[in-house]
Amino acid sequence: MRLNKNSEEVMEQIISRCGNLCSECPWSIYMRRQIGKEDWEEYSEEVKRYTGYKPIKYEWEGCVGCLTPNEKLPKHPFFNFLRKCRTRKCGSHNEIYNCAYCGRFPCANTVASTNFTRERISEKLESTIDDKTYDRYIKMFDSMTNLKKIRSTLPDDQIKNPKTISRKIDITTLKGEFKNKDYNKIYEKFLEIANSNLGIKGIDTVAGLENYMLRKDFLWRFIWIFGLHGKIEGNELSIDSITLYENRKPISLPSTEDQWKIYFDILAEFGITADFEIKTDKLYTPGGYMRAKIPQTNKPTYIIKMNLAPNLQKYQFFKVLNEILSELQNKTRKRAFTNFKKLNFNPLLS
Ligand code: SF4
Ligand code: SF4
Repeated sequence: MRLNKNSEEVMEQIISRCGNLCSECPWSIYMRRQIGKEDWEEYSEEVKRYTGYKPIKYEWEGCVGCLTPNEKLPKHPFFNFLRKCRTRKCGSHNEIYNCAYCGRFPCANTVASTNFTRERISEKLESTIDDKTYDRYIKMFDSMTNLKKIRSTLPDDQIKNPKTISRKIDITTLKGEFKNKDYNKIYEKFLEIANSNLGIKGIDTVAGLENYMLRKDFLWRFIWIFGLHGKIEGNELSIDSITLYENRKPISLPSTEDQWKIYFDILAEFGITADFEIKTDKLYTPGGYMRAKIPQTNKPTYIIKMNLAPNLQKYQFFKVLNEILSELQNKTRKRAFTNFKKLNFNPLLS
């Protein structure tokens, strides 16, 4: 593979807030300057082989890197993920180069990944990875390893504690009493959920709060979907992948079983247990995302089955949940989900 003019010059390494190497990233403007158009396809295929993702076409200008301030990011939709990245926001708020310089490193909310270590890729491909291959196709995304290396070289006086922030709980005060007294227990459960940290450690950091907001948005949507569309049989409820997918907007569904299990663990704390019944061996796409439908069929790939702790069984939680959400939907139509997220049940009061 030929390299473009000047590419032998050693370029200064540019590292993202989460430890990716922007200056060696196949999506970057920098690699497009190094690799000629005629070699791009071959290079892209190799990147895909080791990372599972194929870089955008050579003709695209390339990513300008995570350290570029928001006002200088190009208007292309590609950069939306940078604008939203919680680790980038956190590093910028704390005025540090990257997470390695942070007193909380490695915190539970950084997006630094352990998915691209030499060992994991080698295990996945069932072959050994030599240094040249690792350096060229993997190292730029082996972000946690990169950060740990940086951290090991830093003197204590370069490490800063993050500037802490506090969370506001955005819920509407009830201005009366429910006409249907059964709703009280459900409402109390909603309040418990709204007041909890949803399992987030470090919610007092920018990354922690952003992670909390993401979980909160998903959890309310998930409760809304299974509460309205789940099939209830006594104290059990089931909801299939197609129904979840069709009702998911404005959020995306978790893409792996492990991501789903984060939400199952949160619900378990509130007395609702959930687990998968997997219906196919074709659950995942080649890119590693869970499918909603079994290929070439209209059948769901999985069903989530839910049960209740004894204290919730006493109140027929799923049945009353369905009643309260259905009534909110009938009474407030387009605003129903927004009302639900803010626990605005005032339209159901006497
Ligand atoms: S921000 Fe991400 S996509 Fe952009 S150059 Fe850096 S590592 Fe690549
Ligand atoms: S709090 Fe976490 S995400 Fe934020 S800078 Fe520190 S290590 Fe990175």
